[in-house]
Amino acid sequence: MKINKVRTHVLEAALAEPFAYSRAWYSTRTSMLVEIETDEGLVGWGECYGPARINSAVVEAIAPLLIGQDPLRTEWIWQEVYARYRDHGQKGVVIQSLSGIDIALWDLKGKFFNQPVHRLLGGPLRTEIKAYATGLYGRQRDDHVEYLAEEAASYVADGFHAVKLKVGFGVDRDARAVRAVREAIGPDIGLMIDANHAFDAVAAIRLGRMIEELDIGWFEEPVPPEDIAGHQRVRDALTMPIASGECEFTRYGMRDIFARNALDILQPDTCSAGGISECKKIADMAMVYGMRCLPHVWGSGVAMAASLQLLAVVPAFTPPSLSPIEPILEFDRTEHPIRQAVLAEPIEHRRGVVTIPTGPGLGIEIDRAALERFRAS
Ligand code: CA
Repeated sequence: MKINKVRTHVLEAALAEPFAYSRAWYSTRTSMLVEIETDEGLVGWGECYGPARINSAVVEAIAPLLIGQDPLRTEWIWQEVYARYRDHGQKGVVIQSLSGIDIALWDLKGKFFNQPVHRLLGGPLRTEIKAYATGLYGRQRDDHVEYLAEEAASYVADGFHAVKLKVGFGVDRDARAVRAVREAIGPDIGLMIDANHAFDAVAAIRLGRMIEELDIGWFEEPVPPEDIAGHQRVRDALTMPIASGECEFTRYGMRDIFARNALDILQPDTCSAGGISECKKIADMAMVYGMRCLPHVWGSGVAMAASLQLLAVVPAFTPPSLSPIEPILEFDRTEHPIRQAVLAEPIEHRRGVVTIPTGPGLGIEIDRAALERFRAS
């Protein structure tokens, strides 16, 4: 069996209501899907996290390396592509593009063997997973505290055990928002915060101290991803766990984070840090360093499915025991017209719990009509 076609699909959808995180407003959502086909007619799907059009161009540039290769040699292909672009692409869009390719190859492999990816990775360690709600972004309204409290309460009503709030809009405004959300959800629901690296260590520590008594599950990306010493300073100064890693790439990129003990929770993105092949290795390294591995998830249903296949084999954070501490799934609740539309069967939560797909490969079917509907011009 040989690879004979590599296609990219750049998808785009306008949002009904723009929303903001600490550094920009979103008025559209994009997705970049990778489709790899073999001479036997098998098709695998992957997704790249990152700038859709640039990732598409990079995947197209890598495609000639893939044509004619055995798609089951995922490890060989990963090493070959990485080595070919090492001098220019150890991080960023090259690795994001390799991630989408790697995921598509794992989907193909699963379909070839008629098994879900997680079984080929030695799993499952779990068949379902608790999800937390990612939402609570900024909106073009002045009543920030009111709409955030309302939205947070709606996630609790939907059954989520934890919610994540965007911060980084200014320390005082953030502290007010965190207090309002904690009040809205009560003491028993998890509350995490995510600054998307809007702060330096001084500002992050100041915010952390103002909200330290509010039982924060973790403080995500307090400082820029390159500032490993800044993460260490924030971690040393605060009692709440510190999380980061969605803007880091491959084992090599994670190495300093591990070696310098810079985080409590590492968040590689399956569609960005090197695909399923690489993120499984990163998850295993995290266990060695006593760091929790909780993949970042942000994308269409393809990204969700790939993340779920990985999460099926991410080790529990405590050794096997009667009450292990298990990984949880990031479940984006913001508007994303493409997210479920590309799937023939949506991946939904049931009272905040998501079942890991058990069909062959990623366990999903793609709705090709949706690809046409959302194709970017
Ligand atoms: Ca984040």
